[in-house]
Amino acid sequence: MSAGQRDPDDLSAFCCHNPGCPDFAQRGRGNLTVPMRYGPQRRRLLRCRTCKARFSERNGTPLFGAQLPGDKVAAVLHHIAEGVGVRKTGRLVGVNKNTVVRYCLLAGEHAQQLHDELVAFSPPDP
Ligand SMILES: [Zn+2]
Repeated sequence: MSAGQRDPDDLSAFCCHNPGCPDFAQRGRGNLTVPMRYGPQRRRLLRCRTCKARFSERNGTPLFGAQLPGDKVAAVLHHIAEGVGVRKTGRLVGVNKNTVVRYCLLAGEHAQQLHDELVAFSPPDP
């Protein structure tokens, strides 16, 4: 394993995506395991011990099902966030403008979900 790789056992940033599960959206519960990896980039398939649901480690992120490499997606979203137009972003990053639009929509939905989650679970005062 190279030094830049994430600890394969660190699942603290992930949570169950099954709304019917008692551990739904709760991070760091220790309910997740990695029964297998999939795809050319060896993505983790996560499994919730509480409800037995399985989901991709990319589920719930703008990268879920993404065909572009992560750094290209990041570049697209960075340009858009800086106010660069869709066509110009496509030219600069080297992707089709329709691809840019698609990732913007995915990221927008995710941002909305994240906003709702953060508002609902505000951190306690230190
Ligand atoms: Zn669950």
